[in-house]
Amino acid sequence: MLSHHCPVCGSSDVMQRTVNDRLRAADPVGQAFEIPLLLPVWRCRACKLCWQGEEAMAAKEAAYQYALVKRSPNRSTV
Ligand SMILES: [Zn+2]
Repeated sequence: MLSHHCPVCGSSDVMQRTVNDRLRAADPVGQAFEIPLLLPVWRCRACKLCWQGEEAMAAKEAAYQYALVKRSPNRSTV
């Protein structure tokens, strides 16, 4: 696993936590909807910065894909 550093102050004194978040998205026909998800975020203990890393992007993408599948139960292919 990669070591993480704060993008602002460069400190390695960072920790990961999980927060409840909502992702706003639109399905292929343009209908907006919200996806509740658990989002992993990083927090720097040196300067109190919170930011989202690759894990958060992956979590959003996974939640979005999952939501699309759930919203189209009759379609096995996209
Ligand atoms: Zn920092």
